[in-house]
Amino acid sequence: APSNAPAEELRPDDLFIAVKTTKKFHQPRLDLLLETWISRNVQQTYIFTDGEDEELKKKMGSHVINTNCSAAHSRQALSCKMAVEYDKFIESGKKWFCHVDDDNYVNVRTLVKLLSQYPHTQDLYVGKPSLDRPIEATERLGDNKMQPVNFWFATGGAGFCVSRGLALKMSPWASGGHFMNTAEKIRLPDDCTIGYIIESVLGVPLTRSNLFHSHLENLQQVSRSEVQKQITLSYGMFENKRNIINMKGVFPVEEDPSRFKSVHCLLYPDTPWCPPQVTY
Ligand code: UDP
Ligand code: MN
Repeated sequence: APSNAPAEELRPDDLFIAVKTTKKFHQPRLDLLLETWISRNVQQTYIFTDGEDEELKKKMGSHVINTNCSAAHSRQALSCKMAVEYDKFIESGKKWFCHVDDDNYVNVRTLVKLLSQYPHTQDLYVGKPSLDRPIEATERLGDNKMQPVNFWFATGGAGFCVSRGLALKMSPWASGGHFMNTAEKIRLPDDCTIGYIIESVLGVPLTRSNLFHSHLENLQQVSRSEVQKQITLSYGMFENKRNIINMKGVFPVEEDPSRFKSVHCLLYPDTPWCPPQVTY
């Protein structure tokens, strides 16, 4: 493991944070992100969606990308969005590609701290493994041949990052129309396809971080004292119960069911809509 000494000076706007969304979630999910973490990180955040939204364009300008991908939740539609995210990142010239979902809170300060430990020119793929073992997939080769492949991948719903050095090596399998073709070879979702290209094709191992969180895990285990150290958070439902971080926070759960507003006030207490700080 690297020391905590920065490998290079990294600024927030060296990051390219791609947020995957869909038109029907602009209001129920994206608005919350725009009010919270994105409001402090407009320079490094890019929204990938599938429908026009003038209000969103007013707020984010050229940082809203209409992928023209289908709005279906199909494997193909999601791979189509990931392919556009990849191409826009390459075009941007930024040092780090990070992908998140529209139900993630991103603590950009801790994200920058983590990534600054690695040179962006080296090969780095960092995130939270989706499973506790490598996924077992079947690679479809030409002329009806199949081959078993095993690889680790970072769960897209927790967010993951790829260095520019590694992203450039992914180009033959990820750029232009290649990502969709690669995804069809293994017939798995977009985040698995990223893992397949990086681990299986290029032989670069996933660097694990426990600081990325999706709602596939029990979020109750993230407590208030640890919130400031985390890189991503999420929220969701599990067996008809809320799966949210364990945090008292400045807003009650009824007003802030995701807990993102309370997290935001903890990280950025000078936000105008946060309750005034108590000083003694
Ligand atoms: N999503 C999408 N198109 C859809 C449905 C979902 O792009 O038709 C996006 C959604 O905005 C989110 C991600 O895919 O960023 C995951 O969706 P969701 O959280 O609803 O599902 P999960 O896989 O986490 O259960
Ligand atoms: Mn989700």
